[in-house]
Amino acid sequence: QLYSTIGWHPTEAGSYSQEIEDMIVSQLDNPKVVALGEIGLDYYWMEDPKEVQIEVFKRQIGLSKKYNLPFVVHTRDALEDTYDVIKEVGVGPRGGIMHSYSGSLEMAQKFVDLGMMISFSGVVTFKKALDVQEAAQKLPLDRILVETDAPYLAPVPKRGRENRTGYTRYVVDKIAELRGLTSEEVARATYDNAMRIFGLND
Ligand SMILES: [Zn+2]
Repeated sequence: QLYSTIGWHPTEAGSYSQEIEDMIVSQLDNPKVVALGEIGLDYYWMEDPKEVQIEVFKRQIGLSKKYNLPFVVHTRDALEDTYDVIKEVGVGPRGGIMHSYSGSLEMAQKFVDLGMMISFSGVVTFKKALDVQEAAQKLPLDRILVETDAPYLAPVPKRGRENRTGYTRYVVDKIAELRGLTSEEVARATYDNAMRIFGLND
């Protein structure tokens, strides 16, 4: 029941090469590989210059389109540039996912308008994450996902501990509370959304 994404992370952008790209491409027809990712921009760690990260990000969005897979985006302190790159390159018919989203509703809506889905991690349960909570509350239900990001970002009430995949239930509970739905309804909707974007069947 395990599936994988494969991609070259932005904190490693400087070591991207044709050889790496060939290695990634060689895995893309594996039925267990369901997306290109994590790809994106990380200006927090800034291991490589912006221009290098942007180039590697663009190349891999291109691969996702060429091989007809969705892509999963990691972005940190780089939301505006991330938006500009995705808009410029364009989202393929399989769409893409903003992983562990931590921006505003307004920005999330712009990504949704480009054809992206928005994925929420434990961050949505954090007391001060009001922006993220508003996004989780108001985005269309058919455009949101939940995720673990384990071992990081454990949700309240497990915040600060090593995260576990099972704790994703607290993310679901929080979104249900925000939207006035039952946890079962949010679990069902996000499950269906994940199956749809990754091209999996029940
Ligand atoms: Zn990430």
